[in-house]
Amino acid sequence: MQAAVLKAPGCLELENIQPPRCPPGGLLVKTKVCSICPTDVKMFFGGHRDLIYPRIPGHEIAGVVVKSKSDLFKSGARVQIAPGISCGKCALCLHKADNQCVSIDIIGFTYDGGFAEFIAVPPQSLVTGAVNLVPDRLSFEEAALTEPLACCINGQERTGVDENDTVLVIGGGPVGCLHVLLARARGAKKIFLTECLPNRINLAGRFLTDVSLINPLAKEIKKVIYQETKERGVDVILLACREGIDYPLLDLLAPRGRICLFSGLPPEKARPYFDLNTLHYREITLVGAYGCTAAQNKAALELIASGKVPVSWLITRQIRLEQINEGLRYCAQRKGFKVLIKF
Ligand SMILES: [Zn+2]
Ligand SMILES: [Zn+2]
Repeated sequence: MQAAVLKAPGCLELENIQPPRCPPGGLLVKTKVCSICPTDVKMFFGGHRDLIYPRIPGHEIAGVVVKSKSDLFKSGARVQIAPGISCGKCALCLHKADNQCVSIDIIGFTYDGGFAEFIAVPPQSLVTGAVNLVPDRLSFEEAALTEPLACCINGQERTGVDENDTVLVIGGGPVGCLHVLLARARGAKKIFLTECLPNRINLAGRFLTDVSLINPLAKEIKKVIYQETKERGVDVILLACREGIDYPLLDLLAPRGRICLFSGLPPEKARPYFDLNTLHYREITLVGAYGCTAAQNKAALELIASGKVPVSWLITRQIRLEQINEGLRYCAQRKGFKVLIKF
């Protein structure tokens, strides 16, 4: 089969390799669509904390079961696969934090992923509910966007976004837009989105009609937010780009506000950034969010299927696996939104 194998930072090679075998108790899945994630881009250019080389990346996967050694899925089933392969038994797994499982494997990071024609899905993924049937009305393209939405669900569950909240999403890339759509689906009262790139402002402005879009190059964020919240500030800030950490986040927050660190930061920006006394006196909560649980993945697929979170408009480019290097560069340049690899 054809596969893109990452051997070192910047070295992704297209190879013809033996397809994997269907693991006992697991599935062999033919990849139909694998979407490119900013994390794949990061991995390609500079590696990643959880990556083990050589690796077939790709963790936003939808496909068809071509061989099944499990009673749970039949051959021919259309499936979406969450990347976390968790043990299901450790304390974290038992407390619905399986994305933090002590012995987790991650498809596309420590286990071969979707930048290939076939994927071997281990039995553990089936037992823990990481594989879901794709409803008939949903395309593989839409189903492939389940995982990034699931990661947003994790971030918004960690910050408890609900109908009482005014939310600020920093960064209007695909993930920022998914955060906006999700916050809206969760009933958030008012949503702000910041973005500086003209092409992204245009797209987001066209499809996210009930959001206050702020271009920080043209307007001062703090001014706009104070004006539109009667000097109160926002309840939740979701950081969906690494530049967001440079904004005066604490000044933008109402008392008891919550901040979600959703994007990994470069080391030079990862040092403590906040006046901890402000956190104390104003009862600010700072949370991290990394990946998603199997339950969040399932919820994301249901949200997309229900039409509450429309995702098709986020797909701005579709490529073949042979064009993978080009696709990664397109993402790195933040030209459009989501790039899908189709098989
Ligand atoms: Zn992803
Ligand atoms: Zn576990």
